Amino acid sequence: MTASLHDRIRAAAPALRGRLLADQPLADLTWFRVGGPAEVLFTPADEEDLAHLLAALEPDVPVTVIGLGSNLIVRDGGVPGVVIRLGGKAFGGIAIDGETLQVGTAVPDMRLAKAAAEAGLDGLAFYRGIPGSIGGALRMNAGAHGGETTDVLVEAHGIDRTGALRRFSHAEMGFSYRHSDAPEDVIFTRALFRGTPGDRAAIEAEMERVTAAREAAQPIRERTGGSTFANPEGGKAWQLVDAAGCRGLTRGGAQVSPMHCNFLINTGGATAADIEGLGEEVRRRVRETSGVTLRWEIRRIGVDSAAVSQ
Ligand SMILES: Cc1cc2nc3c(=O)[nH]c(=O)nc-3n(C[C@H](O)[C@H](O)[C@H](O)COP(=O)(O)OP(=O)(O)OC[C@H]3O[C@@H](n4cnc5c(N)ncnc54)[C@H](O)[C@@H]3O)c2cc1C
Repeated sequence: MTASLHDRIRAAAPALRGRLLADQPLADLTWFRVGGPAEVLFTPADEEDLAHLLAALEPDVPVTVIGLGSNLIVRDGGVPGVVIRLGGKAFGGIAIDGETLQVGTAVPDMRLAKAAAEAGLDGLAFYRGIPGSIGGALRMNAGAHGGETTDVLVEAHGIDRTGALRRFSHAEMGFSYRHSDAPEDVIFTRALFRGTPGDRAAIEAEMERVTAAREAAQPIRERTGGSTFANPEGGKAWQLVDAAGCRGLTRGGAQVSPMHCNFLINTGGATAADIEGLGEEVRRRVRETSGVTLRWEIRRIGVDSAAVSQ
C-alpha cells in the first residue's frame, strides 16, 4: 500500500513545526460554507517552516493557499494535495513606522483599516468593508469605495512552490482590476503599505460611512462569496445579470441574491455544485441577452464530487 500524502510529508520533512492534518474539512473555513476536505491542511509556524514544507514536497503535489475564504468556492470533491492556511502570530502582525505599515498576510483587511486609522494614516479606510485577509487582497487587488490595494502597496514578500523567498515591488505585482500578475504559485507572507498622514476622526468617519453603505447594499450577513463576476470593461456585472432576468434565480440551495444580483448565496443546503452551476447558468443567460461573457471573480478550487466517485 502506498503511504498517504500526510505520511510522506512527515517522512520527508520531520522538522516541520506547524500543524499538518490529513483529510480536513474546509467548508467552515469559507463564507459559502460548502465543499469537501483538503487532502492535507498545513498551518505553518512561520515563513521558514512554510519554505521548509514547500522545498521538501514532491514537485507534482498541488499546493493551494486560502485566506479567509471570502472569495472562494471549494468544490464538493475537496482539494487534492496540500492546502495552506496562514494564521497565528508569525503572519498576523502589524508594525507601524511613520507612514509605513509592515503587515502579515493573515491579518484581516478590516484590522489593517482600523490600525491605520488609529495611527492617523489615511488611504486604507476602504479595507474596512472587505472581509478577506491581506493575502487575499494582494492576490485579488481587493478594493472598494474608490480605493484599491494597488494604491497603497509598496512591496510584497512571499514564498514560491520551490520554497524560495521572493520579493515583489509594486510594479512586479502587476496589478489590474481585481487581479495581480504575480506568479500563481507564490504564497504571500507579508507586505509593506504606505498611508498618508490624516485626521483620525475624519478617517474613522469615512470607515463608518463605508460600513453603512455596505450594509445597505450587500447581503453581508449571508453565506456568500462577494462579487461573483468581475465588472466587464465599461459596465457593471450586476446590471447585466439583472437584465438577463437572473435576480433571485435558484438552483438547489443556491440563489442569486435578490438584494445584490452579483452576489450568489447559499440559502442553507447548497452544495458547491449548486453554487457553481448557478453561476454558469447566469453566465450563459448574460451571454445570450447581452453578448458579454462574464469572468468569474470568485476563485474556484478543488474537484467536483463526480471526480472522486469515479
Ligand atoms: C460580503 C462580501 C463582500 C465583499 N466585498 C468586497 C469588496 O468590496 N471588494 C473586494 O475587492 N472584494 C470583496 N469581497 C471579496 C473578498 O473579500 C476579497 O476578494 C478578498 O481579498 C479575499 O480575501 P480572502 O482572504 O478571503 O481570500 P480567499 O477567498 O481565501 O482566496 C481568494 C484568492 O486569494 C488567494 N490567496 C489567499 N491568501 C493568499 C496568500 N497569502 N498568498 C497568495 N494568494 C492568496 C487564494 O489562493 C485565492 O485565489 C467581498 C466578499 C464578501 C463575502
